Amino acid sequence: MLTFTPLASGSKGNANLLSWDGHHVLIDCGLRLKNIKDLLAQQGLSGHDLSAVIVTHEHSDHVGGIGPLARAFGLDVHLTAGTQKGADGLLDKVACQIISPHQPFTIGGLVFSPFPVPHDARECVGFTFHKEGQKNGPVMGYLTDCGHITPYITERLKPCSYLAVEANHCPDMLRDGPYPRQLKNRVGGPYGHLSNHQTAALLADLAEGLAEVRLTHLSENNNTPDAALQATRPSLRAQTGLAVAEQYAVAPALTMSW
Ligand SMILES: [Zn+2]
Ligand SMILES: [Zn+2]
Repeated sequence: MLTFTPLASGSKGNANLLSWDGHHVLIDCGLRLKNIKDLLAQQGLSGHDLSAVIVTHEHSDHVGGIGPLARAFGLDVHLTAGTQKGADGLLDKVACQIISPHQPFTIGGLVFSPFPVPHDARECVGFTFHKEGQKNGPVMGYLTDCGHITPYITERLKPCSYLAVEANHCPDMLRDGPYPRQLKNRVGGPYGHLSNHQTAALLADLAEGLAEVRLTHLSENNNTPDAALQATRPSLRAQTGLAVAEQYAVAPALTMSW
């Protein structure tokens, strides 16, 4: 069984716990060390139970807490060369394992298959996960901080039954909201973040295979859980589970049997 638990999700810090067969890794860690320790404790875990940390990209809401966590527990950090470069200064005395955005790697019998994601970072990636030796078995996916959906992203997420995907903003709220024009352009632009409608279009393409979806990285200023759910629900089959991940509460896990 593979579980993906969004411990915290949003522009103030992201951390996701991926667990399977007694293994645990964190995907992204934009939280302070005390905060992440508390969240792990709520799951009955400590940093000593983690095998590694995986990073999508170098923005502080994804890497801000990586250095202290990795140093405190001697964890390897898996990240692309571009992300390592972008996170320069945060990773002193941290063991980095450089991954290619095109090359799967395996930890504890779980295959992590990265793919490139268009975002204003150096070498941002998303992932699919499946059990080693079960290439045609069930697949889970994670996509965040994505300016636009490429045909390749859709192709890579097509096999997913379980998906955690960004639904960052409602375009109307972003347009009418408090951000300065430059920031509005960045967030809504092709290297910014997915709007509810972009996510809805992706989900419509993937709907047939999806059993369970979590919407992540909702903007506190430019979105609401209701707006995100209302925009995306019609894309999915009635039996597909859907919930939002929150900044300050642990979201219900995606749980995939294999
Ligand atoms: Zn982010
Ligand atoms: Zn980002």
